[in-house]
Amino acid sequence: MSSCRILQLRQSSQFFAVTRFPAFFKPPISTICFSSSNFRSGTGAVSSCNTLRRMNAHGVVPDVSKVTVVDDPSLLEEKAAAIRLAGPAKLQVIADFDATLTKYIVNGRRGDSSHGLLRQENAEYDAKRLALYQYYHPLEFSPSIPIEEKTKLMEEWWGKTHNLLIEGGLTYDSIKESVAASEIAFREGVVELFEFLEERDIPVLIFSAGLADIIEEVLRQKIHRPFKNVRIVSNRMEFNSDGRLISFKGKLIHSLNKNEHALDMAGPLHEHLGDSNGLNNLGASVKDRTNVLLLGDHLGDLRMSDGLDYSTRISVGFLNDNIENNIAGYSKAFDVLYLNDAPMWGVVNLVSQLWPTHN
Ligand SMILES: [Mg+2]
Repeated sequence: MSSCRILQLRQSSQFFAVTRFPAFFKPPISTICFSSSNFRSGTGAVSSCNTLRRMNAHGVVPDVSKVTVVDDPSLLEEKAAAIRLAGPAKLQVIADFDATLTKYIVNGRRGDSSHGLLRQENAEYDAKRLALYQYYHPLEFSPSIPIEEKTKLMEEWWGKTHNLLIEGGLTYDSIKESVAASEIAFREGVVELFEFLEERDIPVLIFSAGLADIIEEVLRQKIHRPFKNVRIVSNRMEFNSDGRLISFKGKLIHSLNKNEHALDMAGPLHEHLGDSNGLNNLGASVKDRTNVLLLGDHLGDLRMSDGLDYSTRISVGFLNDNIENNIAGYSKAFDVLYLNDAPMWGVVNLVSQLWPTHN
């Protein structure tokens, strides 16, 4: 690990990591401190360290340095300088949804995913979808299945699941009720991040292999206000006049193709939505915005910017679980890594230090 200063000292069940930050990260040096049991379970580290405070009345962003790893501080500083120089008109944010914008642990348990929270009115169909999950999910992560074969399996899984939603007569009301009853929550600081970006007309594209209509409902119910700069690229449903699902629009997006065509799909979406609400500076801008801030919780999320010939990209990772086994790979792959289901305050801090004042 080149300039990263991660020291793993195993003493009396404590895990310590020391991380060096570029100058624009404050404070520059800090320490992660939490017990190994918290470390493994991915819970409790934040509160046990008592390091995080909500944004205070003066708008000061809480310090998350104790759960932050930066492998190459000078590279990060270089990238931040290039993005700062090009200005907000050249930046776009590309974010994964589940376990990136949302918390991994909610109320002490693994939080719901946007797909997993859905309950149909007909419980028989919930059981059928669960049976598909139990069959296909292990195949999705099987190391012995070639990618072409796996892609076909994923198409099969998503296709069957979508058909069950139609066949079972899913209503929009069930989506609303499912979201209301779900254990899903945004990371603290997500609203402040969206607000900061909205004020500067910086688009946020949320890429997901889940369901756009559910993600929108989660945004509506959990954030309570719309953001003109947030767009969702995901599987989109079509309902009839009775509010019953009749079909899916466009190309099927599953876990293995989510990144391939996402930017192509986002372009027309931006143009359309840009026209409809007068955000001309956002319309058709996806490919012109050649600097990217990418947020993800899987190494595969790094491919979300594949369709873009970007100039500078800062990638931010959230390593929520199994930290010990993944920290080396994740901290190499992402420019900034937040551990242990950290809040979004570090990203708020990062963008607000790019352009502290709004013209
Ligand atoms: Mg995710």
